[in-house]
Amino acid sequence: MGLKIWFNTGLVDEADAKISVFDHGLLYGDGVFEGIRVYSGRVFELDAHIKRLYESALAIRLSMPMTKEELVGAIETTVKANGIVDGYIRLVVTRGVGCLGLNPFTCKPSALFIIASSIQLYPEELYEKGMRVISATTVRNHPLAIPPQVKSLNYLNNILAKIEALDSSVPEAIMYNHEGYVAEATGDNIFIVRNGVVCSPPVEAGSLEGITRDVVMRLARREGLEVVEKNLTRYDLYVCDEFFLTGTAAEVIGVVEIDGRTIGDGKPGPITRRLREKFFAYAHGKGQ
Ligand code: PMP
Repeated sequence: MGLKIWFNTGLVDEADAKISVFDHGLLYGDGVFEGIRVYSGRVFELDAHIKRLYESALAIRLSMPMTKEELVGAIETTVKANGIVDGYIRLVVTRGVGCLGLNPFTCKPSALFIIASSIQLYPEELYEKGMRVISATTVRNHPLAIPPQVKSLNYLNNILAKIEALDSSVPEAIMYNHEGYVAEATGDNIFIVRNGVVCSPPVEAGSLEGITRDVVMRLARREGLEVVEKNLTRYDLYVCDEFFLTGTAAEVIGVVEIDGRTIGDGKPGPITRRLREKFFAYAHGKGQ
């Protein structure tokens, strides 16, 4: 039996959740989405995800087909219908069906679907041992071309960098912006630790304002750690003591090598491990 998918106005069987070939989400990557976790039966940071989704839609002039309250109801209904206790939700809003031309205002109405399922982005072993990454040559989208805060359906920039990583037999690539500063990984935010200080590039450097990033920054401060948002260079990544990535799907994962240079002692560092533990305690409702 397949999944129950929320499709515009209600639940349908997976086999019946079909998008038109004239949907501009498919034709042009015109739309927005969210990836959301469910931990211990609770939708994680739901308010933050709803806020980001509606702001992304506003920024690209996409009219949302339902109110925030209705959307929260639809998410909860979909999670329940699929019996998800620990899992992953993909919520997509496309511009909808229109004519063969860019004009988004020919598309009516926007299409919305919600998949509640599971995800394992990386094997468990990678979380223990830490991952290797490379610096991508593909430059992150200019923030004046596509605002990095918009979580749009157009991921080609990130996919080109991901291909570079896979061609180098590593799972992730670090993307730099047009000025050469660190932006983000292809689907995750970046943190380093240097002399006990936790640093992450600012959103203006070209990264999504990650919800996992926000949670980790809050937890780090609560741990008494100094957290700063500042521009980082490739050099900063090469000489840091610890390096980790955050994202809804990836959660918190240590990086132990970049461009052939070992980070620290080649294992996920102590602050990375502590923040990963705190993250799961918080996510599962312990240590609030
Ligand atoms: N950057 C990009 C490009 C992403 O796609 C994501 C989400 N996978 C993130 C960062 C992390 O954001 P969040 O913690 O909200 O999932």
